[in-house]
Amino acid sequence: YLSFVNISSSMGNPHALVIPYPVQGHVIPFMELSHSLVERGFKVTFVNTEFNHKRIVATLRNNRKDSQIRLVSIPDGFGPDESRNNIVKLCHATQHIFPGELEKLITMINRSDDDDDVTCVISDMGAALEVAEKMEIKRAVFWTMSAANVAFTQSVEKLIDMGIIDHDGRLMKNQMIQLSPTMPAINPANFIWLCIGDAATQKQIFEIMVNNNKAQKVANWLICNSSYGLEPAAFELIPNILPIGPLFASSQLEKPEGHFWAEDVTCLNWLNQQPDRSVIYVAFGSITIFDKTQFQELAMGLELSGQPFLWVVRPDFINGLCDTYPDGYQARVGTRGKIVEWAPQQNVLAHPSISCFVSHCGWNSTMEAVSNGVRFLCWPYYADQFLNQSYICDVWRVGTRLTADDSGIIRGEEIKEKVKKLLGDEEIKIRISELMIIARKSVIDGGDSSINLDKFVDNIKQ
Ligand code: UDP
Repeated sequence: YLSFVNISSSMGNPHALVIPYPVQGHVIPFMELSHSLVERGFKVTFVNTEFNHKRIVATLRNNRKDSQIRLVSIPDGFGPDESRNNIVKLCHATQHIFPGELEKLITMINRSDDDDDVTCVISDMGAALEVAEKMEIKRAVFWTMSAANVAFTQSVEKLIDMGIIDHDGRLMKNQMIQLSPTMPAINPANFIWLCIGDAATQKQIFEIMVNNNKAQKVANWLICNSSYGLEPAAFELIPNILPIGPLFASSQLEKPEGHFWAEDVTCLNWLNQQPDRSVIYVAFGSITIFDKTQFQELAMGLELSGQPFLWVVRPDFINGLCDTYPDGYQARVGTRGKIVEWAPQQNVLAHPSISCFVSHCGWNSTMEAVSNGVRFLCWPYYADQFLNQSYICDVWRVGTRLTADDSGIIRGEEIKEKVKKLLGDEEIKIRISELMIIARKSVIDGGDSSINLDKFVDNIKQ
């Protein structure tokens, strides 16, 4: 089950075994953290599921990239063609299949004469940290979400005491909640576990989350992809967590970042031909799926906006349907619209032609846009995306919400109107530039996140 891509031959390095929860939005920031560790003299062994590993290696080959990171894989217990969208089964694998596989892997590495012993394990899965504890290896949790979201997931007992949820995570009182006055508010109906599946699934996910929180307590360090400047109030609530972000590559094309799809770089040439601050970038991360009606309304909204747009339509984006564009769409839009299956998003957001980002508000996308000073039109779906929307629209005030009609659809007219409003809002423009400076200052040499990362690295090296 072990396969390597480009093994570093040097010996005597601190050796981090990095194992993210096996979805794209966790793999990418873990990969970015891994690159930061390599730059600081680490050897990194990066563990993916076999399923994700194959996709990542295929993408690397497609882009003719080489890796300074050793990629290995473990099974996830799914059949070869089974959908990995079954979150309960995936979480089950992380708690019941990964630990045994991880122990075997670490034992094998540590027995080898040609390899450095694993000196620390970095994961967001409690069960992986428990393996490290059992094997007496140092361990750290890396949260790829906001500190506000970490604070919420750690406030389950408090939420039960307040009567907001019961012991099974069921919603008891529907009132907006805020952990402190300068933090984003959330409607409890949008809690991570309450956004997915039926009541039984929600209960299972709640239990998994509670168990994961408990297991994470064995960590020696807690780090998070955020910064004090972006979330001062949240870090006051959870002072033991070190922000080390927002991690982002100035060019994701220069470093392999663990992508499941190959980046279509033709969009960068297309962007070069567009006027400065004109293009609407539209992307919904790696998981969100649209139905046909909503897809067509979005297509119409982009057409009606009159602006150039770059739109990511993943191969699995439209609920099993193929040709769902409105009749004659491509001919009408012509070269004003560029559609790709997967973009080099960090390069796109850094491009001077981008005017705004129609986003599902995943935390990575949020951090990447903030780091590049790009305003948001928010279209959250689930998980922490509503909380992130609240940061964007209410706390930082660098974006606008889209409003659905009575049937729950966001209409083309609404998209057109909100794009116009957003692009004409001078105050948002100023605020996003200021926020970009705050984000960037924390990760440059001497910035607080950069100092935290150095502190963390020094600690693991000892
Ligand atoms: N991404 C990308 N190309 C795309 C769309 C997304 O490289 O066309 C990357 C994006 O830069 C981000 C990640 O995929 O790093 C998505 O993470 P996020 O937390 O925003 O959303 P999730 O996929 O977890 O819902």
